[in-house]
Parts: sequence; structure tokens; C-alpha cells
Amino acid sequence: MFKITNFILFISIVKFEADYSVGHVLVEQLGNNKSAINNQSMIKGEKRILYHGDKVSLLFNSNYTYILNFITTPSYGVSPNKRPTENLNQKIACKKIRPCENKWEKWNSLMVYNSQDLVHKEKCIYIFKIAAFDLDGTLIVTKSGKTFPCDNDDWKINFKEVISTVIKLSLEGYKIVIFTNQKAIGCNSSNAMPFRKKVENIIGMFNTPIQVFVSIHDDIYRKPAPGMWNALASEFNGDKLINLNESFYCGDGAGRPARVSNSGKQIKKDHSICDRLFAMNVGINFFTPEEFFLKAPTEEFKLPVFNPKNVMSNIKDIDSKSKLFKAFKEMIIMVGCPGSGKSHFVSNKLACHGSIKIISRDVLGSAQKCINEAKKYLETSTSLSVVIDNTNPDKLSRKRFIDIAKSLKIPCRIFIMNVKKEHAMHNNRFRELTEKKRLAEIIIHTYFTKFEEPSLSEGVDEIVRINFVPHFKNSKTEALYKMYLI
Ligand SMILES: [Mg+2]
Repeated sequence: MFKITNFILFISIVKFEADYSVGHVLVEQLGNNKSAINNQSMIKGEKRILYHGDKVSLLFNSNYTYILNFITTPSYGVSPNKRPTENLNQKIACKKIRPCENKWEKWNSLMVYNSQDLVHKEKCIYIFKIAAFDLDGTLIVTKSGKTFPCDNDDWKINFKEVISTVIKLSLEGYKIVIFTNQKAIGCNSSNAMPFRKKVENIIGMFNTPIQVFVSIHDDIYRKPAPGMWNALASEFNGDKLINLNESFYCGDGAGRPARVSNSGKQIKKDHSICDRLFAMNVGINFFTPEEFFLKAPTEEFKLPVFNPKNVMSNIKDIDSKSKLFKAFKEMIIMVGCPGSGKSHFVSNKLACHGSIKIISRDVLGSAQKCINEAKKYLETSTSLSVVIDNTNPDKLSRKRFIDIAKSLKIPCRIFIMNVKKEHAMHNNRFRELTEKKRLAEIIIHTYFTKFEEPSLSEGVDEIVRINFVPHFKNSKTEALYKMYLI
């Protein structure tokens, strides 16, 4: 047993720093040989925090084990299982807000804040694990109780456990990172400066190194897309690797339905599931603020109905019993919403066939011009088939073309894209993130509002279902496609 008061003790290759006022000892591994805390090994550069009763082994797997013993036992932390919570919290809560130096920088469309003393900038410190948090509804909530803050002073720390828990993580060697979506700043840049000040005030409460990523546009950096995490890993982590298994993300956008708390209080459903999906996309553990800070049991949640991981790349366009091409002149009416891959299918799978004429409202400008053009080709050509590459969601839109085929006694088929609404929305978002092209979502909603399932009774010879087969430029875009993006 050894006694520690307020001084720094160097023993061989391990550094101990006791703070008797809060009843803990910071231990740092300086040498190459592993030491151990409570039989868990520590490697060079790692820091942990010890409490009364913890075991310290100066060499891992050795008999040189000591027990930390404060002569006057602090009123908290008397057992390894009882970590300081309330007292430490109260102590920290009394601190004045510490002004931070201006360390903001702009990186692509992100705003990034780096505390001056971020640990990855120190020598001999290896960053293995990230403790990441959402901001609004997670670390802070509004003082006013409103969903959105009235002004930049309308915030308070969410739970009394928040500050001490974050400080403890930092002392245990986690790098603390905040990822927050703040699209309002992108819409009005005059919001940027007050928001920065607010963040600095919040960070001042923690008195520990914190890095903050602020997404201000609706782009790849907006959660649940993984851009903020990728920026951290590639540009803002001091070239250190991240251990995903030990890293985690905590946020209140968790997809929980409306519920009643143990005390009978009505709780609204979560505003989104973007935090949970962000963690899934990155591949790290996820916790809600209640699970993480209050040790509440895991709550029920609902994942989106469409899982992009289930989209198969190795399927055929159509079932084997159907044929893409017929040996005679015919009319093909496409049915599919924007984002269903319809036009990609037409231009890559049908247009290559020399005897097919593609007719598209996007090119001709009106439905009437499409009708005139289809009629002209089918009347004048002996072998040219016609494909109507419009969305054609309802019977009426299809009837105009079916009538032409009937009047000319030409066979007619409907090709319908086998894509549900959520899948089309995902494709639309993916296209925006990768090609900066996006259709207003209302167009997809409108398509499905009008949609009437095609039927042979409309007077067509066959209905062929076309599978969506994704095509990717490279493995990076494929990986992005397989993530939750909405
Ligand atoms: Mg939130």
C-alpha cells in the first residue's frame, strides 16, 4: 500500500498525479513495458484515473501490485464500483465558464473547433478511441424547455452527470468530439459567430480538450452521412488511427417512438434517427443520452424500412421468363419514379439496341409531343420499336400511348421499375451527395400519390418488372451507397 497526497510521484515508468480535493489519481504510462490498473493493461501514452481502493500493477501480469489508499477516505469514491458522481458534479457545476481561445477553422463546408490542448497533438499519446457526442438534446438542452433555443443563451447542461462523465472519459484517454448538424447557419451566415460563442461557452464548462465539428449545409457532412467522421479520421486526428471498437457515439436522434417514462411522464417521439444511423454508418457503438449518462436500460427504436445494405448488385434486370427485346415492332411503356433507375436502364439496356427509338418528355418538353413522336415512328418505320421513357404513374398517362399501339395493331408492354418510394428517396440523396444533382423530394412523393399499379386489363400484352441494379464508380461510392443517407 502507498499513500498519495497532493504531489506527483514517479515510479519507474509510470507517472501518478493525485488530486486529493476530488479524491482521484491520474496515472500515465510513460515507458514501453505495460503496467495494469485493476488487472487491465495500460500501454505507453495511455492515461487512466484511479480511485480509492483501485489496484495498480507496475508491471502487467506481475506480483508488483499496490492498492491506492487515501489516508482520509474521500466522501465519495470509497469503492471501485462507486465512482464520484454527485459531489464531483456539483463541484464542476460551480465552475465559472472558462473562455476558450479562438480556434475555429473552416474546412470544406464544415466549421471545426479545436481546443488548444487536444491530446493528439502531444508526443507519446496515441489516440485509440473517440468518445463522440451530439450537442443539442444530448450534452445540452434548452433552458426554456422549448424544442429549439430562443437565443444563444438558451441552453443548460442536459443531466448533472454529463460534465463529470465527459471529464472522466477524457482522463481515461478518450478524445472527446462533438458532431452537430446546424443547417440554420448555412442558411444565414450571420448565425455563425453567435453560435461559435455559444459552443465556446459550453466547452468552457467542461474544462477538458474537446473537438467540435459543425455541419452547416445539407451535404455529405450532415448526419447521418459519415462526412464529419471521415473529416475527423483523415484530417483532424493528428495522423493517429482510431480504434472503432472502443469508440462510440451518443445522441438523442435515436428513432425512439413516443413513450411514457417510469414516473408516468409522456415523452415525445425522437425528432429523428440520424444519430443512431450516423453511428451505424461509421461502425461504432451507439448510446442514447439516457443510456449513457443515466445508465437507463436500452429503449425500443425503429430503423428505417429501407436498408441500403440489402440492395443487391449481382441481380439481373428482369426475371428469366421475360425478354427485354422482341423480334417484332412493339411499344414499351416505362413506369417508374425519378430515382428508380428508369432512365439509366433505358439508356444503358435498351438504347443500345439499334432498332429502338427512345421517346422522353424530358427531351421533347410535353406529353403531346411524345404522343405525336411515338405515332410518327410507329407508323413510318417497319422495324423500329418505341420506348416511352416517362414516369407514367397512372392509368390515364399510360392510356394515351396504349391507344396509339391499339390503333396501329402493334403489341404493347409495360416495363415497371421494381423500386419502392424509400429506395427512390435513397437513390435521390445518393445522387445529390455524389453528383450534386438532386430532385425535389416532392416529385417522388407526387409520383407515389398518383401511382396506380399497372394491369393487363389496361390493354397491354405483358407487364415486366425491372430490377434496380446499382452501378458504382468505385468501392468508395459503393460503400457510401450501402449507408443510411436519409
Ligand atoms: Mg440532437
